[in-house]
Amino acid sequence: MTKNNTLDVIKKHNLRLTKSLGQNFLNDDNVVRKIVDAADLDKDTLVLEIGPGIGSMTRELAGRAAGVVAIEIDKHLIPALNDNLSEFSNIDIINNDVMKANIDDIISEYKNKYNSKSVRVVANLPYYITTPIIMRFLEEVKGIDGMVFMVQKEVAQRMVSGPGTKDYGALSVAVQFYCKPAIIFDVPPHCFIPQPEVHSTIIRLDILKEPSVRVDDKDLYFKLVRASFGQRRKTLVNGLANAGFLRKDKEQLRQIIESMGLKDNIRGEVLSVQQFGELSNLLGR
Ligand code: SAM
Repeated sequence: MTKNNTLDVIKKHNLRLTKSLGQNFLNDDNVVRKIVDAADLDKDTLVLEIGPGIGSMTRELAGRAAGVVAIEIDKHLIPALNDNLSEFSNIDIINNDVMKANIDDIISEYKNKYNSKSVRVVANLPYYITTPIIMRFLEEVKGIDGMVFMVQKEVAQRMVSGPGTKDYGALSVAVQFYCKPAIIFDVPPHCFIPQPEVHSTIIRLDILKEPSVRVDDKDLYFKLVRASFGQRRKTLVNGLANAGFLRKDKEQLRQIIESMGLKDNIRGEVLSVQQFGELSNLLGR
C-alpha cells in the first residue's frame, strides 16, 4: 500500500499547476486503490499510464504490476515525478504528448524490458482530450488488453449508452464496437487538488479480441455512424441521402433500410451497433 500527499509534493517542488493541461491531481488514497483494483493487475502486466502528474497513481500501479511506463506532457512535472517515485525501480517516465508518441514502439520496448505478458492502459485523463485519446488507442494501437480511464461523468455515460437514449452517439458505437465498457464508480470533485468543476467516473474498457460486429469495410461503417448521428433530427434516409459519400438515391436507401425489417422513417440514433454493421455491409455491396 502506498501513501500520497499531494499538497506536500506540490509545495515541496513549488509546482504551478496548468489548468489547460487538465492538472487536477488525485488526493485520495482510497480512490487511487480502487482505480488500480479495477485495472486487475498482476506481476506479468505492463501498465502504460497516461498523464501521471506527480505520480499519485503511478506508485500504486508500480507496486502491483511488472512495470509502469508513464507518458507525461509537462516537463515541469518531471523532477517532482522522479523524486516522488525514487523508491521504485520499475517505473519509466517519458516526457511527451501521448498524441504524438509512438505507442506501438513504447509498448514493445517496455513489454520486453519487463518481460510482461499483457498490457493495460490506466489514465486519469485531461478532459479536453479524452475522446481523441480513447479513439486513438482503440483504432491505432495494437496489443492492449484493457484500459481503465477516469473521464468526465457524462462521457462515461455516453460510452455505455444504448440505442434510442439521449446519451447514445458516435462515441457509444465506437467504444462498443471495440470493447465491453463498464462503469466502475464515480469520483467527486473533493478527491482532487485543485477541485475540478465536473464529476468524474472510472470506466473500464475490456478490449474484445474481435470487434463486436463483422463489417466488410470499417471506414464505411464509421462514416455511416457519424453521418447518422450528425443529423439527429433527420430520418436515416434523409441523413444518408445528404451525406454525400454513398452513391445511393433516396429510393435505393429506403429499399435497403426496409430489407433490414426497419421502417423507412426510422432515425439513425435508434440503430444498434449490430444494425449499423448490417446496414454498412448492405450499402457497401
Ligand atoms: N494521474 C495524475 C493523478 O491522477 O493525480 C494526474 C492526472 S491530471 C487529471 C492529467 C495529467 O495529464 C496531467 O499531469 C497533465 O499534465 C497530463 N497531460 C495532459 N495532456 C497530456 C498529453 N497530451 N499527453 C500526456 N500527458 C498529458
